[in-house]
Amino acid sequence: MKVFVDERQREHDPQHFLNRGARRPSPEQPARLDALHKGAIAAGLDAAAPADFGMAPLARVHSADYLSFLSTIYEEWQALPGASEEVVPNVHPARRPATYPAHPVGRAGWHQADTACPIGPHTYSSVYWSAQSAVSGADDVLEGARASYALCRPPGHHAFADMAGGFCFLNNSGIAAAHLLAAGRRPAIVDVDLHHGNGTQAMFYDRADVLTVSVHIDPDSFYPFFWGHAHERGEGLGAGYNLNLPLPQGSGDVPFLDALGIGLEQVAGFGADVLVVALGLDAYHDDPFAGLSVTRDGFCRIAEALARVGLPTVLVQEGGYLSEALGDNLTAFLTAFGAEAGA
Ligand SMILES: [Zn+2]
Repeated sequence: MKVFVDERQREHDPQHFLNRGARRPSPEQPARLDALHKGAIAAGLDAAAPADFGMAPLARVHSADYLSFLSTIYEEWQALPGASEEVVPNVHPARRPATYPAHPVGRAGWHQADTACPIGPHTYSSVYWSAQSAVSGADDVLEGARASYALCRPPGHHAFADMAGGFCFLNNSGIAAAHLLAAGRRPAIVDVDLHHGNGTQAMFYDRADVLTVSVHIDPDSFYPFFWGHAHERGEGLGAGYNLNLPLPQGSGDVPFLDALGIGLEQVAGFGADVLVVALGLDAYHDDPFAGLSVTRDGFCRIAEALARVGLPTVLVQEGGYLSEALGDNLTAFLTAFGAEAGA
């Protein structure tokens, strides 16, 4: 199995975000990339550089004005008198009919959902290459690999078609799924990150050609709050093609695996012929987010369950934050997946 990652993905270096109103250091640190890369190599994966597929795979799921915003806003922001070093929003259209603004402060509020996705000088380059790693992982599977691992840092599943949020800018899992769809495949996305994959859900919410399944902590008490509830099943043509499996805070391996089993039954019923796994490792009991209580052995069981689906699989890194266990948890997951899948 290959691990796709590019050095430029390290350059995004977010400084702060607001948590309960308090200014905190961002946990989405460049060192995550090193810990995860080391973990993938320790599992025996082969390092591979992503190819540059250009803007087309990004534009399948993201709007033109958002992609333009991401690539230009840092320089525009720096030209504002008194501007902060990072682009951080402070005013939003707030669920009311609104006019797309010309001013950089207005566009920041339009395209950034929260303060957890500050844009610095190297953010665009990092998120661009993170997305190219996802496309390269998907392409590897299209070319016949049983599985591939895209080390996507920055992560992606909280990014909407036209909006960043929750440390995410480009929706790598959604981009991978759209790339597979464009090649004539029928993808299912299974998200095992601690947090609900709200951006991914929204991207495919009214579509029947991509199944989205997410196992996560109940959003009644956790980010992203507004999405991730069991009653959100899709709309229009997409009705029945989104499945949320929220778990009570503190849930451990058994409830997580039970929920995943329900999700994988949906994948089989959907007739998926390729799987995209939004692979967060922040459900770990010792993750800084401290939301669920999955153990390292639990990650192995999750990996085996995903491998037993028996489909070509793109593993796309999502969350999982710095602790001594992060890299080792990835090693355990990838080793268990590879052993079960014969990959
Ligand atoms: Zn997460």
